[in-house]
Amino acid sequence: MQERRKSTNVLLDTALQEFYGAADEMGLDEKLIAVLSHSERRIQVSIPVEMDDGSVNVFEGYRVQHSTALGPSKGGIRYDVEVDMDECEALAILMTWKCSLAGIPYGGGKGGIACDPSVMSKKEKERMSRTYGARISPIVGKWSDIPAPDMNTGGQEMVWIMDTISKMRGELEPALLTGKPVSYWGSRGRHEATGRGVATCGLELMKELGKRPDKITAIVQGFGNVGSYTAKTLNDAGVKIVGISDVTGGYYSPDGIDIRKAFECVHSNPKRILTGFEKVGNCEKIDDVLFIDADFLFPCARDGVINRKTAPNIKASYIVEGANGPITPEGDNILASNGVMIVPDFLANSGGVIGSYFEWAQNLQGVFWTEEEYNNKLVHIMKGNFRRVWDYAEARHVTMRRAASMAAIERVAEVVAMRGTFL
Ligand code: NAD
Repeated sequence: MQERRKSTNVLLDTALQEFYGAADEMGLDEKLIAVLSHSERRIQVSIPVEMDDGSVNVFEGYRVQHSTALGPSKGGIRYDVEVDMDECEALAILMTWKCSLAGIPYGGGKGGIACDPSVMSKKEKERMSRTYGARISPIVGKWSDIPAPDMNTGGQEMVWIMDTISKMRGELEPALLTGKPVSYWGSRGRHEATGRGVATCGLELMKELGKRPDKITAIVQGFGNVGSYTAKTLNDAGVKIVGISDVTGGYYSPDGIDIRKAFECVHSNPKRILTGFEKVGNCEKIDDVLFIDADFLFPCARDGVINRKTAPNIKASYIVEGANGPITPEGDNILASNGVMIVPDFLANSGGVIGSYFEWAQNLQGVFWTEEEYNNKLVHIMKGNFRRVWDYAEARHVTMRRAASMAAIERVAEVVAMRGTFL
C-alpha cells in the first residue's frame, strides 16, 4: 500500500486529509485512494515581463490539473503574492469535488501567478497575462483544461489570455475559458450566479426544516459579488436580512436591512464599499455581524473567518458557506458540538462553476441563452444538488459536509474505476 500524502502547506494538507477521511468512511478501494490523492499534472512556468520602467521581472506561474476523470479540468487563475504550487493543487483538488458534486462534466484545476497586481499598471498586467497564456497554451483547451477568473482576475484577464491563445492557434477559441465579459462571448446571469446559488441552498434548507422564509432572519457577511446577490435573492424571497458587512465594518438593523439601498450605496462608491451606509440605510454600525442573534448566517467574504476564536460566539443555528473555506477545521468542530448545521462551500457556492459550464456549453454551440433561461436552469440544478446531499446525509447519518465529500468522491471514483488508471 502506497504511503499517504502529507503536506506542510495547510491548505493542501487539509484538502488531502478531508479526502482520506471521507474515502475511509466510504470504504473506498486503496488503489482509487492512491490515484485520487495525486494530481495528474502540476506545471510551473516562468513569465518574463517588461515593466513600464524598462526593467524585466520574471514571475512564477502555475497550473495544476488534479483530475480529468469526468472531463476537462476546470478552475480559476489567481494573481496574488501568496500563490504557489501547493496552494494551486489544494484548490484544484477542491474543484474536482465541486464539479463532481455539481453534476457537471468537469474535473478540477487551478492556476495562478505569484505577483502583486495592485502595484502593476494595466499594460504590465496585460503583458504578464498574455505571456502566461502563451506558456500554458499547450495544456489548456476546451476539451482539456478550462480556466476562469479567480482572486484579482476578471473578464479583462480572460480576454487577454483567450486572445493570445486564439492568435497562436489561428482560430477563435471562445470555449477555452469562462468568465468572459457579456459583450465578448460571456453569459448573462453569470455575475449573479454564485450568490443566487448560495441563497437557493439556504432557501432549500428552510424548506427541509419546515420554516417559511418570511419567518427567518439572516446575516450576510461580505457585500461583494457573492454576498450582495446572496442577500438580494434571500431578501426577494422574503427573508429578513438583519446584518450585512464588508471591509468597512458591520451594519445591523433588527427591522431588516434595506438591500436595495445597500446596492445603491456600494454602486455610488468608486471602491464598491458600504461607507456611510449606517446613515442612508438607517441602521446601526457595529464591528462584526458574525455574532448577531439570527437564524441563518451566510459568510460570503473570505476564508478562515469562523475559527477557534470566533466560533464559540456564533449564535446562528444554520450556516451556509458562500465564501470558500470560511470555517476552519477547529471552528467546524466547535460549531458541531454546539449543534450548528452547515451547508458546505463546495455545494453552496457551486452556482459559479455551474454558470461557467453554461457559458462553455453555449460557446461550443455558438448560441446565447436569455438571462431567464440561465437563472431557471441554475436554480433547478442547485435545488437537485442540495436534495441529493441532504438525502445522502440523512441516509448515512453524517454531516452535510461529509455527505457532500462522499457523494462527490463516489462519482469520480466510479469513473476512474471504469476507465482504469491509464487516465
Ligand atoms: P469580492 O471581492 O467581490 O467580495 C468580498 C467581500 O467581502 C467584499 O465586500 C469585502 O469588502 C468583504 N470582506 C473582506 N474581508 C472581510 C471581512 N473580514 N469582514 C467582512 N467583510 C469582508 O469577492 P467574491 O467574488 O464575492 O468572493 C467572496 C468569496 O466567495 C471568496 O472566498 C471567493 O473565493 C468565494 N467564491 C466566489 C465565487 C464567485 O463567483 N465570485 C465563486 C465561488 C466562491
